[in-house]
Amino acid sequence: MKTRLIALLSLITAFTFAHEGVELGPNGGRIVEFSKDETMHGEVTVKKGQFHIALLDKDMKPVSLDKQELTASTGDRDKPTRITVEKDKKGFTLPVIAEGQWLILQYRPTPDSKPITARMAYDTSNCSGCNKAEWLCQCKD
Ligand SMILES: [Zn+2]
Repeated sequence: MKTRLIALLSLITAFTFAHEGVELGPNGGRIVEFSKDETMHGEVTVKKGQFHIALLDKDMKPVSLDKQELTASTGDRDKPTRITVEKDKKGFTLPVIAEGQWLILQYRPTPDSKPITARMAYDTSNCSGCNKAEWLCQCKD
């Protein structure tokens, strides 16, 4: 019973989060912050059951991958599930997470730098306002 309540609460949080002003990138993907000063962003798109995460600079121009690293997890904060991230020159690729869950990303500009954490609620339900999935919805209440 308690876990069900927590699951419900996290879902409500997810819905609230979806309406806090989502930013979309040049490829229509969801922008996540990979810096504290807006100099590095990630753009999350979904293709064939995979999240693709491209890096974009302060002007939303593509950044090719070199030493950058990304780790990802999903699920409960207490018991996160690690997701395998693959990397090529164009970006990072990882399997799509379960509907309604949080995707937690930890980005490092170089392997020994401190990670920047970005979170995204993966809510695929349809928004009646813009007809997009909630995780890509830019409507504001
Ligand atoms: Zn909408």
